[in-house]
Amino acid sequence: MVAFTGAGVAAESGIPTFRRAPGGGGPAGLWDDYSPAIYGTPWGLAAAAVVRPERFRRFVRDVAAAFFDAEPNAGHRGLGELAAEGRLRAVITQNIDDLHERGGAEPIIKLHGDLLSGRCLRCHARNAVDREVLRARLAAATERRHWRATRHILKAYPRCPRCGGRQRPDVVLFGEGLPRHQWQAAETALEECDLLLISGTSGTVYPANALPDIARQRRVTTVEISPEPTPYSGWVDYPLTGTFGETMPQLVGD
Ligand code: NAD
Ligand code: ZN
Repeated sequence: MVAFTGAGVAAESGIPTFRRAPGGGGPAGLWDDYSPAIYGTPWGLAAAAVVRPERFRRFVRDVAAAFFDAEPNAGHRGLGELAAEGRLRAVITQNIDDLHERGGAEPIIKLHGDLLSGRCLRCHARNAVDREVLRARLAAATERRHWRATRHILKAYPRCPRCGGRQRPDVVLFGEGLPRHQWQAAETALEECDLLLISGTSGTVYPANALPDIARQRRVTTVEISPEPTPYSGWVDYPLTGTFGETMPQLVGD
């Protein structure tokens, strides 16, 4: 089986999604205050850092709090159980958090990168970043104010261990390309699976949203767990209405 996931699978862990399910479903706030059209793009972030440093500081502080405080939910653990039983071919995720790995799932294909990875601006190497180190550096940086905070936030990712260059978070922002290796791994997994589970994604972020089509064309069994209809609900074999954390244990249980 392959799972294809998006922001919604982390909602019950406390990480806000971009688009909220009608009637609640997930933590409120963050993206109502900070438009993804600005705070999800490289140019928007750069402009905010310079023009609205105090707002930029609060954004980084709030994202870091959501990320570092989140714990895997029963859905993540359910995928972990399937992995332990040898039934999981891969999780393909659009998320940049670390909840799938902490829930025990593997392998995980991260289409949009990983907050706990840095990308060197000089030699382009990708380097794992220690969770506690990053947490401490971001906390210290966002305790400062205005441009002092900005300066420290921009230096929060440690320097590249290979060449000493500065690093940025190794995540894909809107308008940026996807890592080729991850994309190919996702395609291969979908070409090999005999069951696809989709959850937590509104199916609106291109090009990731096109991936489930590979399984559809192969006519393998498809399941979706979503609190609201999505572009996939009309064609999956089993459109299940519900949340990831509540529904997964029912599917995985004996
Ligand atoms: P989205 O924000 O566009 O949509 C979230 C979807 O999840 C909605 O369809 C909603 O109905 C559904 N949802 C809400 N609560 C749910 C629950 N408890 N169980 C199952 N489904 C639930 O998400 P997207 O399609 O992933 O697109 C957002 C983009 O933003 C992605 O590229 C992603 O990388 C990024 N993002 C990532 C995170 C994260 O890493 N946790 C958080 C926010 C945004
Ligand atoms: Zn380097």
